[in-house]
Amino acid sequence: MSNMEKKFEADTGKILDIVINSLYSEREIFVRELISNASDAIDKKKYLALTHKSINDTSDPFEIKIEVNSKENTIKISDNGIGMDEEDLINSLGTIARSGTKAFLEQFNKSKDDKKEDVNLIGQFGVGFYASFMVADKVEVLSKKAGTDKSWKWISDGKSGYNIEKSDKKNSGTELILHLKKDAKEFLEGTRIQFVVRKYSDHISYPVKMLEVSKKDAKEETINEASALWTRAPKDIKEKQYEDFFSHIGAGFGKPLLTMHNNTEGTVSYTNLLCIPSSKPFDLFNPDRKSSLKLYINRVFITDKCDNLIPAYLRFVKGIVDTQDIDLNVSREMLQNNPAVAKISKSLVGKILRELKKIADKDKAKYIQFWNEFGQVLKEGLYEDLERKDTLLELARFSNNENDDLISLEDYVNTMDKNQKDIYYIAADTKSQALSSPHLEGFKSKGIKVLVMADPIDQFWLSMAGKFKEKNFVSITQGEIDLDNIKSDKKDPKNKDTKKDDVDKKFTNLIAHLKASLGQNVKDIRLTSKLTDSPACLVADKGDMDVAMENLMKQRDPNYQGAPRILEINPEHALVEKMNKLLSDKKHNNLVDDAGTLLFEQARMMEGKLPSDPTKFAKIMNNFLVKGVS
Ligand code: ADP
Ligand code: MG
Repeated sequence: MSNMEKKFEADTGKILDIVINSLYSEREIFVRELISNASDAIDKKKYLALTHKSINDTSDPFEIKIEVNSKENTIKISDNGIGMDEEDLINSLGTIARSGTKAFLEQFNKSKDDKKEDVNLIGQFGVGFYASFMVADKVEVLSKKAGTDKSWKWISDGKSGYNIEKSDKKNSGTELILHLKKDAKEFLEGTRIQFVVRKYSDHISYPVKMLEVSKKDAKEETINEASALWTRAPKDIKEKQYEDFFSHIGAGFGKPLLTMHNNTEGTVSYTNLLCIPSSKPFDLFNPDRKSSLKLYINRVFITDKCDNLIPAYLRFVKGIVDTQDIDLNVSREMLQNNPAVAKISKSLVGKILRELKKIADKDKAKYIQFWNEFGQVLKEGLYEDLERKDTLLELARFSNNENDDLISLEDYVNTMDKNQKDIYYIAADTKSQALSSPHLEGFKSKGIKVLVMADPIDQFWLSMAGKFKEKNFVSITQGEIDLDNIKSDKKDPKNKDTKKDDVDKKFTNLIAHLKASLGQNVKDIRLTSKLTDSPACLVADKGDMDVAMENLMKQRDPNYQGAPRILEINPEHALVEKMNKLLSDKKHNNLVDDAGTLLFEQARMMEGKLPSDPTKFAKIMNNFLVKGVS
């Protein structure tokens, strides 16, 4: 087969190579992938036949056939599904549909060490068909698309390209003929095929029939259960069957974190068979944020693009919903506004969130595992689903400045000091950046816990200023925070206030002086009780953008200039004390100005920024150093 007419796309060639040579360790999964495709094709045909009577060209029952021929060394897998026309064959079998697949596979190929997971990977990427080249050195695909009158034959050796020519297939559907490689003869054993079908494809809704053509008196046998898995009673279903079902629908690898199989009857009736996979799919953060729940109406597959069925922040939930409460004739487009879909969605979301709450209460370790995989996505709901915000806040987990635990807001609030009114958080690009912030000093020394918000998404929901149990979320890098009353034995508050007044008075001049010299660089200057080791820090004024938000804006627009910050100074720091003393003699004014500039610039640097005037900063610092050593 050297003169192939059409070459595979460059990407397809590479992917084929990865799939065939190194993606997985168990070749038998080609059976699963090909049956899965046949079943999808029948799903499509079934739907079309119901909505377009003209497509309904046969009264044959839907089924998948496997013919093993040990004389010819072939396996033939055929279905009476939707079929493919010439264009479909080129597009579906010659190119890779999902963007990002190649990049992911290549990266995976480099770093693969756990062979076990490989087996489950393949169906996820829309490359299942290529699995046939693991066992075959030539694959023929005969296909006729329902509603058309031509049929086609696609042939390839899975190396460089393929040929397409007309064929004489009579009925619509697809027939795959695999010419087995020398080392793949094991699959000519009927029992072997039967074993593999039972193992992976028992849940397929259509009968899978097998015939050993070259055996004497061979009879066709149905070798799977052949009823849609979700229509069976949960007690009759084994965990493994659920797993196979989920990998059949591309829901991901291995054992799911959570499986939900329910039958709901009420204002709207439906069955759901859903899972939360144990790890995130590679396209979880694609910009389109699409969910892919499959909607069935009365066991007929309708679509996996019904966005209203489940909100984007639950897009990590995979599986199917089957209902009788929607008219089969409703067009896919109309589904978006269908009231029954809205009702199902509402009920479904409630169910999923309750289930998550249950895990959170019962099995902390498992919940943390879930949170690490999908927490960032669930948090999107905090600003997209205001109706369920409180529930979502209960489910959210946060890092904190004291240890590595992820804690709930409930935990946080329950351990708050009685005088602490707000929930404190620090926002930053990363946790480690947050932890090195001077803003935390006072909190650390008083043992006041601060939540760390290091996901970009946090800026969005936090800016909508919600509350949790009547407590506000307060950024410790924004607005004025008084820690004096918290965790202090407030026996003599009066005395304390007078002390504070005294301190204020003591530094009035210094503050006025620095305001004059720093000018437009700062919005204001004030004393703070938040610092212990550092002399100064910058905070956003109430209502101005918090640092992390400002960083996000800058990523979008490098020229973005934030509002000037408030400089907070630590009255107990030796440098500040010294500056205050120097002020009593006019001749030191310049020195105080320079020290003020250093305070301001270092506060900027501690926020991860460059000095506003690096040259001036270096010059002043060098002056101080020269004075210091001479
Ligand atoms: P996926 O099934 O994830 O899309 P595959 O590589 O398994 O990826 O199949 C690629 C495409 O080829 C399918 O999406 C489908 O359009 C088409 N296809 C494969 N097998 C069949 C079949 N038996 N009948 C009709 N179409 C098929
Ligand atoms: Mg497939």
